[in-house]
Amino acid sequence: MNSETKKRISAYFESNRDALKSEFVELLSKFVACRTVNVVKSRLSEFPYLKERGEESQMSALVENWAKQEGFEYETHARIPRRGNIILHYGEKKGPFLFVPGHTDVVPPGDGWDSDPFMLKIDGDIVRARGVADDKGPLAASLLALKIVKNAGIRIAGDFQVAALADEEAMGADGIDFGMIYLLENGLVNADMAIVPDIGGNMRKIDIAEKGIVNYEVKATGRQAHGSTPEKGINAINGMAKYLMRLQTHEFAYTEHPVLGHCTVNVGEIHGGAAPNIVPGGCAAVIDMRLVPGQTAEGARLELLQLADGLNCEFTVEIKSQMASHEISKNSELIRIVSDATEEVCGERPQTMGLGGGTYAKFLNHAGIEAIGFALGDHDAMHMANEYASISEHLQYAHVLAIAAAELTGG
Ligand SMILES: [Zn+2]
Repeated sequence: MNSETKKRISAYFESNRDALKSEFVELLSKFVACRTVNVVKSRLSEFPYLKERGEESQMSALVENWAKQEGFEYETHARIPRRGNIILHYGEKKGPFLFVPGHTDVVPPGDGWDSDPFMLKIDGDIVRARGVADDKGPLAASLLALKIVKNAGIRIAGDFQVAALADEEAMGADGIDFGMIYLLENGLVNADMAIVPDIGGNMRKIDIAEKGIVNYEVKATGRQAHGSTPEKGINAINGMAKYLMRLQTHEFAYTEHPVLGHCTVNVGEIHGGAAPNIVPGGCAAVIDMRLVPGQTAEGARLELLQLADGLNCEFTVEIKSQMASHEISKNSELIRIVSDATEEVCGERPQTMGLGGGTYAKFLNHAGIEAIGFALGDHDAMHMANEYASISEHLQYAHVLAIAAAELTGG
């Protein structure tokens, strides 16, 4: 990248800092006022202000207005009207395409808030509301990066795209997705690489690998009997208890991964029994496993099944859902350029790391689009009461992203 481009971006940023700050706060306060709570359909009745889960079109409409006002080209896509997505573009489309997808839905507020979760509370440099860190703040900062590049008069040979997408927090929860997976399945993401602004990490981390996520259902079948004559039945809850004790000490077969570390196992749900006076004939547990490269969902399923050998209930183990792991090379240009821009603005190079959770980067990498996670905000603030973020850190992120995006797209 020629240093002239970098200088122009930084000069624009410095001389417009106050205006950018006001614009960020204004955008974010409009964003958080949209109650785009995304929950599974069965819980929708707890949120009387929603007709459809998420209703992210409230947000995509705001972003569309902003795009019109700022003179950006954009496209909108929606599987259903209330759950819209929007992608903004800037560039001549003759060079590399960079995709920066933020999400417009949020998790429910939950309990313990000191102020209205859907009204931006400003306390010096700190803002609080549901979504300020995950992911409405980072989305607003990404939009500012687009504006900085354009208004600094940078010519982009490729395409710098910022997207506001629905349905990240309860992705495909009812068996159908309205955001990233919908776009990918329909060939609507046209990019060579992506930066996902949604991992927290205060710009000190770059997510280059993510574990696979597999949910298993383990079912124990015994024999039902009257509760007064337990000897006539086979208690499936007791069988499951023995199974889970074995699971706690079982060592799965895998090799520790240099970035992702170890495979993890969590027993997240257990269901069984009908009444105290019935010997339960069935019991089921749902197990969430995070697999490292080298492990397969089927391999771990067979291990889970073998664990039941010799127990007096019958056991089955079924894969309920699965997403494979991914990793990208530490030597990727994308990582180098984002790290350089961060060092330039923040004075510190981010560290590469892996995640046990899944972000948009997983789906993008699986679709052949090299993607990293790189974001601002404190990961511990996400999904919590009194979710918070720093205004100045958002502005820094916009500055870093503007420099990195310009270089990545041939600015
Ligand atoms: Zn998020």
